[in-house]
Amino acid sequence: ATPMSVMVGVGRGAKEGVLIKNAEVLEVLTDIDVLVIDKTGTLTEGRPEITSIKTFGELSEADVLALAASVETHSEHPLAQAVMRRARRDELSVPDAANFSSDTGSGVRATVNGKSVLVGNPDYLKGEGIQTQSNEQTVVDDVALDASKTGSDGRQRVVATMVHVAVDGKHVATIAVSDPIKASTPDALAQLNDLGIRVVMLTGDAEPTARAIAGELGINEYHAGISPADKHRFVEELKAENLRVAMAGDGINDAPALAAADVGIAMGTGAGVAIESAGVTLVGGDLRGVVAAIHLSRKTMRNIR
Ligand code: ADP
Ligand code: MG
Repeated sequence: ATPMSVMVGVGRGAKEGVLIKNAEVLEVLTDIDVLVIDKTGTLTEGRPEITSIKTFGELSEADVLALAASVETHSEHPLAQAVMRRARRDELSVPDAANFSSDTGSGVRATVNGKSVLVGNPDYLKGEGIQTQSNEQTVVDDVALDASKTGSDGRQRVVATMVHVAVDGKHVATIAVSDPIKASTPDALAQLNDLGIRVVMLTGDAEPTARAIAGELGINEYHAGISPADKHRFVEELKAENLRVAMAGDGINDAPALAAADVGIAMGTGAGVAIESAGVTLVGGDLRGVVAAIHLSRKTMRNIR
């Protein structure tokens, strides 16, 4: 590739908020077969809000929130932000947590007021021998119903993620957190479809939530309950089929897959490690930038060849 045309291409991308790392990335982008895509923070805004809380047992909503917020203070996950924002809004006094630990893509835990507090997905609780009490689908349906009726900001928030809270080995609450689909996502997916690119959504989130968002967006191929290692393996398997694979994501959990893909595409709004692992960064997190990058690379390579 001539350095000059590559520089022009990269410069043009930058103007549109598409940061391309080097000439090799630009070249690989010309013929991508599959785009593997993360959900939270990539297809959705990653700015979730708590929409409902169901408690089981004697702890009140406020008690549960304070304990969860205490643990989540130490997490960078978008869900953690939702819990903390709510605790702040309700002016709860949030106790200090000790022994914090995080299992990326599953959940977080700490000791709060001498109690062991876990916050995460059903598998995370199950890993500790704790059975979750709620029927996930029922809660999702409740939230969907609520959201279609209310929606504090006038926007539809039908995509709910269930966050489970356990205290001293007992599941005490399920918090429904919903995260709107980015306004640009449907358009981006339509453009990818026009280019004939196969799209596969991989998410660490649970099946009912994954199904709801895939259905809403017309994504036929998706996998739920996917760990960071699974995301990485999935990308490797597609590459082994001789497919050119792009991966788009925003989180720490996406970093291994982003690095393994032929082209990693990070949301500029996401975690630092995701951006470092990727060849392309979409500054504002607008997925239409993927299509812009492909068009740009094709144009640039045509000029060179
Ligand atoms: P995605 O792949 O869609 O970006 P993640 O892999 O980041 O989702 O998270 C998967 C699931 O793990 C979440 O839906 C949530 O249930 C759980 N989880 C991960 N981190 C946290 C956290 N800090 N607090 C609560 N739940 C978490
Ligand atoms: Mg994510």
